[in-house]
Amino acid sequence: MNPSDADEDKEKLPGKCDSCGAVFTVWVLADGSIRPVSPENSCACEEGILRTVDKSDIFDNNE
Ligand SMILES: [Zn+2]
Repeated sequence: MNPSDADEDKEKLPGKCDSCGAVFTVWVLADGSIRPVSPENSCACEEGILRTVDKSDIFDNNE
């Protein structure tokens, strides 16, 4: 019962909703599906189009 085992099949990454442009942290599951880490920390879309983004896609204002 090692709690860390549960995290091996998912990865926390920066994500974005292509429907509204909101940026928030998502889980990428082993099957490739993307879920908001928290429903309260996502966007208001009922059927958001979620994808992962590179940090440079989010914080690209410095260059
Ligand atoms: Zn959205």
